[in-house]
Amino acid sequence: MATRFDAIVIGTGQAGPFVANRLARAGSKVAVIERGRFGGTCVNTGCIPTKTMVASAYAAHLARRAAEFGVGVGGVTIDMARIKARKDEISGASRTGVEAGLRKTENCTVYTGHARFESANRVCVGGDVLEAERIFINVGGRAFVPDMPGIDAVPFLTNSSMMDVDFIPEHLVIIGGSYIGLEFGQMFRRFGSRVTIIEMGDRLLGKEDPDVSAAIRDILASEGIEVRLDAKCISVSRQGDKIAAGVDCTSGEPEVVGTHLLLAVGRRPNTDDLGLDAAGVKTDKKGYIQVDDELRTSVPGIWALGDCNGRGAFTHTSFNDAEIIVGNLLENDTRRVSDRITTYGLFIDPPLGRAGMTEAEVRATGRPALVGTRAMKDVKRAVEKGETAGFIKIVVDAESKQILGAAILGTGGDEVVHSILDVMYAKAPYTLIKRAMHIHPTVSELLPTTLWSLTPL
Ligand SMILES: Cc1cc2nc3c(=O)[nH]c(=O)nc-3n(C[C@H](O)[C@H](O)[C@H](O)COP(=O)(O)OP(=O)(O)OC[C@H]3O[C@@H](n4cnc5c(N)ncnc54)[C@H](O)[C@@H]3O)c2cc1C
Repeated sequence: MATRFDAIVIGTGQAGPFVANRLARAGSKVAVIERGRFGGTCVNTGCIPTKTMVASAYAAHLARRAAEFGVGVGGVTIDMARIKARKDEISGASRTGVEAGLRKTENCTVYTGHARFESANRVCVGGDVLEAERIFINVGGRAFVPDMPGIDAVPFLTNSSMMDVDFIPEHLVIIGGSYIGLEFGQMFRRFGSRVTIIEMGDRLLGKEDPDVSAAIRDILASEGIEVRLDAKCISVSRQGDKIAAGVDCTSGEPEVVGTHLLLAVGRRPNTDDLGLDAAGVKTDKKGYIQVDDELRTSVPGIWALGDCNGRGAFTHTSFNDAEIIVGNLLENDTRRVSDRITTYGLFIDPPLGRAGMTEAEVRATGRPALVGTRAMKDVKRAVEKGETAGFIKIVVDAESKQILGAAILGTGGDEVVHSILDVMYAKAPYTLIKRAMHIHPTVSELLPTTLWSLTPL
């Protein structure tokens, strides 16, 4: 016998709990199923724990530089067990909060266990069979483990197992020079590890503009992080109690030997064990659930939200998916994925805040555009803080005057970028920011100045 609900939510990532709560508050009888830790990736192995550790790494970095500011702190020591405990406490509080919030929601029944479709409106979890006309999939993703030669014969870490590390690896070798790899790389370098980042492409962060990649490489190099680019045929093997990564690069030693290996080469969706075939839900070749602009899957009555739909890979995109569902189903407020503007951060220090298109993407459109840049060394607040690495770049449409994209690499860049983002959402001309009076001394104060210096792309 199946237990009937109005809605079933599978997964408690960044979208599921909000949708469940809003449906239940609107009077629907809702079942929520979680097979792992409540809160999913962001809360347990993603944003929250990593940014907590980034904060510890920043504290260590600043403490080492304290004398520059006329401050004496003595020798800087790293207590990894304490860093991990602080991270666990902050992440644990969020996890408990998500679970408690769901359990106390009226009309909401929480099931723990692995959910699997039996048909388009039936899901089994453990010994229970649940049935509903509306099913919301928020199963997220996990670290992708590439099929590289030797990988079965060596121990390796992923973003999940990194969360258990309570020691300082002597030499951390990271395969993958993108967002996750760089955050862990800088963090562990600051904790005292030797760090080598191996990247297949000819630069770090291949999706960013080359000037952004180059500036980030300089920042990492200035802290002693080794970077190996153009690593075309990566293989791994044991070398005594160490791990060797064969990199076959065009220059440098053909092998990097370290004590620990972190794989940071991307993510894959948790859709392979969900029984999607039984429901008739279509996926693409990589396993991402195909959805339309309102997150409907190929089966009426089933929606997919968050990383598993391939339409975003961030906490904010997942939460925005939830808002789209709630707007469309409960608030008579039509919302679509295509309404949103790309935005994200890279939380190295200094951080990168991004909004809209890269300069390369704008160039590819062939439209007339203008670009303004300003080095962080010319931003007084950055000078005062002693954090002058990076630059501001803003690209605007020469005809409409609307902002097309921005990259703010520098102190506060992850926050400052929002004033650009909001003007982009308002579809207002860049001249709005140019005429605005901003607070002195801030990084934001230099946005109008950057826009004074626009030149044709
Ligand atoms: C190291 C790292 C750092 C990151 N940093 C940032 C950042 O700074 N900012 C940012 O915006 N994003 C960041 N992200 C990405 C962000 O964590 C995810 O985009 C975000 O968590 C959205 O996930 P989600 O809602 O799709 O699902 P998830 O959070 O992945 O949750 C899915 C849930 O579904 C459960 N589940 C899966 N299958 C089943 C099943 N069959 N039955 C029942 N339950 C199931 C899982 O146990 C999990 O709890 C980071 C990711 C990583 C890995």
